[in-house]
Amino acid sequence: MEEKKIINIILSAPLEKTFYYAVPQDISERVEVGMRVVVPFGKREVEGYVLNFVEQSEVKGFDFKKDRLKNILRIVDKQAVLSDEFFALGRWIADYYACSWGEALSAIVPPRCSEKKRRVHRKEEKNVVSRKSFFIPMPQQENILKPIRKCIDKGHYKTFLLHGISDSGKTEVYLQAIAQVLQRGKQALFLVPEIALTPQVIQQFCERFGEEVGIWHSHLSLRERYDTWKAVCRGDIKVLIGTRSAVFAPFPDLGIIIIDEEHETSFKQEQKPMYHTREVAIFRARWKKAVLILGSATPSLESYYRAKQGEFHLIYLEHRIEERKKPLVRIVDMAKELRRNNRKILSGELQADISEQIKESRQVILFMNRRGYFTTNFCRSCGYVLRCPRCSVAMVYHLKQDGMICHYCNHKEKEPSLCPECESKYMRKFGYGTEKIEEVVKKMFPSKKILRLDLDTAYKKNTYQKMFSLFKKGKIDILIGTQMIVKGFDFPQVTLVGVVLADTTLYLPSFRSAETTFSLLTQVAGRAGRGNVPGKVIIQTYNPQHYSIKAAGKLDYVSFYEQEVKFREDLDYPPFKHLINLVVRGKNVDRVEKEIENLKSSLKMWIKRAGLNFTMLGPTPAPRAKLSGKFRWQILIKIDKEEMAKLVSLLRLYKCGGGLYLSIDVDPMNVL
Ligand SMILES: [Zn+2]
Ligand SMILES: [Zn+2]
Repeated sequence: MEEKKIINIILSAPLEKTFYYAVPQDISERVEVGMRVVVPFGKREVEGYVLNFVEQSEVKGFDFKKDRLKNILRIVDKQAVLSDEFFALGRWIADYYACSWGEALSAIVPPRCSEKKRRVHRKEEKNVVSRKSFFIPMPQQENILKPIRKCIDKGHYKTFLLHGISDSGKTEVYLQAIAQVLQRGKQALFLVPEIALTPQVIQQFCERFGEEVGIWHSHLSLRERYDTWKAVCRGDIKVLIGTRSAVFAPFPDLGIIIIDEEHETSFKQEQKPMYHTREVAIFRARWKKAVLILGSATPSLESYYRAKQGEFHLIYLEHRIEERKKPLVRIVDMAKELRRNNRKILSGELQADISEQIKESRQVILFMNRRGYFTTNFCRSCGYVLRCPRCSVAMVYHLKQDGMICHYCNHKEKEPSLCPECESKYMRKFGYGTEKIEEVVKKMFPSKKILRLDLDTAYKKNTYQKMFSLFKKGKIDILIGTQMIVKGFDFPQVTLVGVVLADTTLYLPSFRSAETTFSLLTQVAGRAGRGNVPGKVIIQTYNPQHYSIKAAGKLDYVSFYEQEVKFREDLDYPPFKHLINLVVRGKNVDRVEKEIENLKSSLKMWIKRAGLNFTMLGPTPAPRAKLSGKFRWQILIKIDKEEMAKLVSLLRLYKCGGGLYLSIDVDPMNVL
């Protein structure tokens, strides 16, 4: 009798080991390496990935006949879904981001979906957008395209950091590079933070590349995802526009990856495997000898630093297209307004400017950052906010302790009643959001059309699209909104943008607060003056002297970078050290606290006995200490790149008590 085939399987579970299974005769011919299969594991059925075929003689100390291997139950796919590239990528993700190989691979494989008859191909349809073939880039764009074209031609890997101010024509650079890649018979991946907020870019892509464009995002149905994935595999889709998870698109011959708005935090996955899209893209581009372009008007500090160090090739678009002028940015000191006895949300200057613009039938955007989950008190006379003396992050008010806590190191202070800086009694907690602004503005301009767009109003069905088109048609005079209106709102009639309070992001309990502030303000300012009339931006703040606000006022990324990078170096924050955030969570607060102490002891022991070198902050209750019924405590680690692999390998094996869970976030975007 012929012997059964034996396969080595990676289970999609938090297990380090791989497992041997036998293949029943009837499906023996169909099993391939890289396929998904379902196997019995204990009392459960678990999905796994075929890593390789194994000869009995290959494995010492294991008698297959005697041990009677279990059979796999069934095959999931008709062909392999994991290539060598994806096995290697999964291994890398597991080692870097501290998860199992199987967990990493489960993020890479396509959705499970039964094969259905292929639908009739769309080419029978008539209203397909025709492909426009010829566009000539402008000299500024052509210049920076040169090194990109060279790499595409030679099939060389390189990562470019494209630093281009708003409205400088970055999209045209992307389109040109993609066109060249397609000419060479390869495919292109274009990654964006959020599909719904980029309708204008998608339209441009469809106009240029017609039906070769596919779209991938988390709101697609399972069937749509599956069909798109298949079309990508076959090479029917040649340009895929997608959010984070599209980075795993299995193109047969990937030639270019572009990450637009590369600084956005949504490129970091917040669940296991907690990968960053940029790092996965670098891995894939290297493997495929493809070009990677990271684009942004405000590159992340880490990326810009890597470009400065020579790891990325820095290219710069510094002029707006059609020689449009940069908007005029004015910074208004709200503490001065207070001294003038104006206690209103809007300064005199902003009020006057709104009146003037709407008299001319132009449109105004008022921006207010989402308040978030935190309560910080700040001084309305001088802008002072209480920061941790060790970590320099804003401290957060806790009702339970009736005091201020640093969320990195657990340093505690009493809530100040007088401002420690200027002794004013105007220490206030944040008290208003977009709703309040809407109320105030409606009272000021009762006859005008005013619209509020934020998470509360936009996520009813189609509301965003409706509001978007109303605004586009000029039917709205004043639009009030959060971050949501920063993206994709490229309207020529907008001549005035008011930032109602720039300081909300500055007071976030995060080492990135200055970066977030600068980047948001710069993006907001980019909304003004995209037509023939030059735009004006008014930034209201209690911190007019803060470098992030001053630099945003001049739209000067480099001066911001130079000051921020010093701060990061002084306090050992990225890019100088890597952070690893360890969070223990569970339903019983006492057990969570006990477990975090155990973890701390283990970490101390690793420093002493295993000779590891890192510093740790905390333990401290996580800022949102209780989230969906679970208590959370965290320890923050600062570590050198060279030391990370050792620590991660130890952490991966760390076992929490029953009912408790340890999450390991390597290079966290938010330590919140
Ligand atoms: Zn003060
Ligand atoms: Zn601290």
